[in-house]
Amino acid sequence: MSKIDRQGILDVLDGYDKEDITIATLGSHSSLHMFQGAKKEGFKTAVVCEKGREVPYQRFDVADEYIIVDKFSDIVNDDVQQELRDMNSIVFPHGSFVAYAGLDNIETIFNVPMFGNRDILRWEAERDLERKLMTESGVRIPQKISDPSKIDGTVMVKFPGARGGRGYFVANSTEEFDEKIEAMLQRKWIEEEDIKEAHIEEYVLGCNYCIHYFYSGLKDEVELLGIDSRYESTIDGLTRVPAKDQLDIGVDPSYVITGNHPVVMRESLLPQVFDIGDRITEGAKGLVPPGFNGPFCMQTLVNDDLEVVVFEMSARSDGGTNTFMNGSAYSYIKFGEPMSMGQRMAREIKNGIKDDRLDDIIT
Ligand code: ADP
Repeated sequence: MSKIDRQGILDVLDGYDKEDITIATLGSHSSLHMFQGAKKEGFKTAVVCEKGREVPYQRFDVADEYIIVDKFSDIVNDDVQQELRDMNSIVFPHGSFVAYAGLDNIETIFNVPMFGNRDILRWEAERDLERKLMTESGVRIPQKISDPSKIDGTVMVKFPGARGGRGYFVANSTEEFDEKIEAMLQRKWIEEEDIKEAHIEEYVLGCNYCIHYFYSGLKDEVELLGIDSRYESTIDGLTRVPAKDQLDIGVDPSYVITGNHPVVMRESLLPQVFDIGDRITEGAKGLVPPGFNGPFCMQTLVNDDLEVVVFEMSARSDGGTNTFMNGSAYSYIKFGEPMSMGQRMAREIKNGIKDDRLDDIIT
């Protein structure tokens, strides 16, 4: 199937009444602050929501229009797309939108204008593309171990796709790798065919910081909007168990994300933070034009040499942006008002309309 025709999207946008734009997205993930931020910037909002999941949007009163669907994936159905276009909708992508709509559909059949670069979404989903983007941009990432037989030291083992860390494990030797693969198979957290896809990398011992950037295509500037840290089961639960009892519990730690904490970094690390943001946006411009547009997130670990090591990225609004629905320390410094990621996105759309430059930030 051929890719969505850029001119087709620009034609849809051309037909929109720019005085009456609706910000739309799937009701999940980080949509609450997207809707709230869009309303603060004066837009109408529309939630596409699976039947039974509409409660948060009603109770927080952030959506003007409800498109209720049987299942989230129906957002790509022709009638839903038509409804969105009829409302002059610009869609804000987020993790659940990408997961439910599906990358292939977003690239080939989802004919509704979206904020950001729809082509870059694949670069976060495919580990080889992600590594290529980071390596060519000159960002420090964990060293890759090519084969289980070459393990000599602590490694992190991962499997394809974003699984919220499910099935990931730590190993210190080839034998331990084999044992743990067996245990994961028994737990049905991985399938036989996942084994050859196992990705093995250096274990970075450090603290977790997920850095939320916003790249403004209109200003050609990378902004730091906030930082969060993940709250993961069972690893964070295990740290609450006395050391002498941890072994008795007998479970291998898992990294299933359950929530997020807002954090700040020591100020002397911020030059590295901006450097990473600048490098990756420059790299992306060359590899996936026009590069990033809007939100993206670098998931990092900071070791005791104070190196910021990037182990993963989100090429759209990351769930950790929910830690600053009312602004973060950083977004407050930048804007002098409590700015969420959702509001920052809506403001970019507003500026794009004002400057007649929506074409530059929509795909
Ligand atoms: P997913 O994308 O499936 O959510 P991540 O790649 O974010 O999974 O990894 C889940 C968790 O595993 C991270 O939050 C982090 O705590 C840990 N982790 C990932 N890579 C490494 C690494 N190289 N060294 C140490 N811990 C890691």
